[in-house]
Amino acid sequence: MENAEVMKHNAIIGKRAVEALRKHGFPAEYYETAAEAREVLLSLIEDGSSVGFGGSVTIAQMDIQDELKTRNCTIYDHGKGKTPEEKLEFRHKEQDADYFLTGSNAVTLNGELYNVDATGNRVSAMVFGPKHVIVVAGVNKIVKDIEAAEKRVEEVAAPANALRLNRETPCFHTGTCADCMSPQRLCNVAVIMKRRPPATDMRIMIIGETMGY
Ligand code: SF4
Repeated sequence: MENAEVMKHNAIIGKRAVEALRKHGFPAEYYETAAEAREVLLSLIEDGSSVGFGGSVTIAQMDIQDELKTRNCTIYDHGKGKTPEEKLEFRHKEQDADYFLTGSNAVTLNGELYNVDATGNRVSAMVFGPKHVIVVAGVNKIVKDIEAAEKRVEEVAAPANALRLNRETPCFHTGTCADCMSPQRLCNVAVIMKRRPPATDMRIMIIGETMGY
């Protein structure tokens, strides 16, 4: 648990982000803790739904897959333990799920989402495809503007993902971006969501804790 001043600061920043997102048509809410957000997230998903996972560390930290399975939900997750062919198949299924759950590389105080992908399946599903898209982001993802969001990805999110995924990229070794030409490059597609895409039912949950990276 963070100290009282940090929690107050998180709430100020988190609520500012929520307000800015709402002005841009994104339904958004602030939750003080991940536990609180987890209960709401689970309550949104009907029994028997198909649920796609975009490979988010934040969503993995919420530890919801086992509970969804007990409720007869079908899980589409291209994560660990799958062959390249299976990963591709699951990535396609995630695009058509009832619910798609993902984090965000950055959320700006101007009310935008900024995300960078290697394959593009996650950002694609965030924009159009699944019936419902739920984005969960800790306050550590909140930045001032798109310039700061790009910097955040180059200096934090992508290097940390290179370490997690064991990618032999320059940032794996140096911790910062070299705008590489590596075949294992993680940063091939960048998407700025400036307003909610009108055909996509989205919900953004901002949490007053550090989640993912
Ligand atoms: S472009 Fe390459 S070096 Fe830069 S963050 Fe992405 S993977 Fe790392």
